[in-house]
Amino acid sequence: RAKVLGKARYELFNSDMYANVLARLQLETDLRRAIEREEFQVYYQPIVSLTSGSILGFEALLRWQHPERGLLNPADFISVAEETGLILSIGKWALHEACRQMQAWRVYHRSNLLEKISVNLSVKQFSQSDLIEQIGQILDSTGLDAGTLMLEIAESVIVENGHQVTAAILQLREMGIDLSIDDFGTGYSSLGGLYKFPISVLKIDRSFISRMNTNSKNIEIIEIIVTLAHKLGVDVLAEGVETEEQLALLRNLNCKYGQGHFFSVPLNSLAAEALIMENPQW
Ligand code: C2E
Ligand code: MG
Ligand code: MG
Ligand code: MG
Repeated sequence: RAKVLGKARYELFNSDMYANVLARLQLETDLRRAIEREEFQVYYQPIVSLTSGSILGFEALLRWQHPERGLLNPADFISVAEETGLILSIGKWALHEACRQMQAWRVYHRSNLLEKISVNLSVKQFSQSDLIEQIGQILDSTGLDAGTLMLEIAESVIVENGHQVTAAILQLREMGIDLSIDDFGTGYSSLGGLYKFPISVLKIDRSFISRMNTNSKNIEIIEIIVTLAHKLGVDVLAEGVETEEQLALLRNLNCKYGQGHFFSVPLNSLAAEALIMENPQW
């Protein structure tokens, strides 16, 4: 009988699961150490004005230079960072670093052309009672103007956390910070409900852009989003622009901004600075 139970236990907790638990624990340990050792980096992907064809600003995207595993993307660690609450200090660091870098670029290069630095905020960050104070301090210490900062909030965050998030959004807006809805179209919110939020930019998820070429209905969907957004006084940014054809279609639809591999992949700060000096026109 004991033998049977022992075997059953073994089956319930097999070696794959054991390896997964160990890997997750290791990741959590590594993440804690990464904060102390300053292993995080911010990469920058240009946001392009489709009307002028020039760079309007950048989205800040977190990377982790892991000592053994190399450069990691958020997909490799952000969910564990959120579950453990470590996203609070990582997110705060990323916001500070992005604001510091943007201010340095604005002071030393073509400052009038770099209008926006856009930073992603996690839902966990919204649950902090001192979020507004933190952001105010970061703007003070880096010298960045509030009007230069844009904060990205996933559509799902707005849908699922109505009241608390709405209050924070209103306060951020009062400070003069711009807000955008990230990954729009994936979070089941209705376009009509958006007028309640003082949002400046709606970022259409790249899954819509990648489907554009395949059938005209998909183009019509984007056209409807752009038209309604404009009626609500909101600008539209297309995420994941990868081809010249997509760019031409988006320009036809009066989509105002674009971002994606067609223009540039996310770059480290040195490469982004080189791009600023090159001042490309699309
Ligand atoms: P996101 O905010 O929607 O960022 C856009 C993602 O799409 C980035 O992935 C970017 O590298 C990728 N991308 C851009 N253009 C293209 C394209 O043309 N084709 C394809 N296939 N992909 C493209 P990344 O950098 O891996 O970031 C993934 C997500 O991690 C972000 O999605 C954002 O939700 C989250 N994230 C990144 N940085 C931060 C941060 O500092 N804080 C928080 N809370 N989340 C972050
Ligand atoms: Mg984003
Ligand atoms: Mg996005
Ligand atoms: Mg996305």
